[in-house]
This record gives sequence, C-alpha cells and structure tokens, in this order.
Amino acid sequence: MSSSPAELVRQFHLAFGLDARGTPTEVSPALAAHRGELLAEEAAEVAEVAVSGPLDRLAHELADVVYVAYGTALVHGIDLDAVIAEIHRSNMTKLGPDGQIARRADGKVLKGEHYEAPDVPAVLRRQGWVPGGAA
Ligand SMILES: [Mg+2]
Repeated sequence: MSSSPAELVRQFHLAFGLDARGTPTEVSPALAAHRGELLAEEAAEVAEVAVSGPLDRLAHELADVVYVAYGTALVHGIDLDAVIAEIHRSNMTKLGPDGQIARRADGKVLKGEHYEAPDVPAVLRRQGWVPGGAA
C-alpha cells in the first residue's frame, strides 16, 4: 500500500464520500470556494503557530495544509505530484550549469539566465485537461 500523501488523501475522500476526480476539471463555484476556504483556514493556523510554536503544533498544521491541498487537487482531478515535479524541475533551473547560485543580498535565490518557468498548463493537458472545456 502506498503511503504517499496523494494516496492517503484519496483513501480519506473515498471513505467519507468526498469528491474525487480523475481528470482535471473545473468544478462548481460553490465547491471551488469551499475548498479554497478550507485551505485558507489551515494556512491561517500555520501562520498562528509559525513563530511561537510549539513545534508539534507547527508540524500538525503544516501537515493539515498539505493534506487539504492534496484533497483540493483531488476534488479538481489534478495529479498534484506531477505538478510538484514540474515546479521542482523549474526551481532547479535556478542553478546554472556552472553550479553558480545567484542570490539577492537577503539570501533569496534568484532566477538566473538559465531559469525555465514551470509549464503547469502542459502538465494538466497531459492529465487530460481541456482548458475552458466542458467537464
Ligand atoms: Mg489545522
């Protein structure tokens, strides 16, 4: 049995009769808003404990954010692992072929000349997404 977040969250959605789609789909505005609110609530809980902790609360709330984010992706039929892989691919292009890292004075990693932006629409199209198409 896989213990990836995507699989665990799928089990939860199936067990509780929550929406789960297999193809990227625009859902009803009410459902989309509901998912957005759930995620905002969890993000706010992270912000509450981010500085003062305790660390177990931070760990809990971070996990809640990821869990709800995977759930929201599942509701919309998005394979989030594939999207994360594309974001990672893009982020790694911030490292030049010479291994040089461009940083701002405050330490933020800058996009170098070899940077490639993530192509999330292409990832979703590979998953069967038809932009603006009927579900
Ligand atoms: Mg929470």
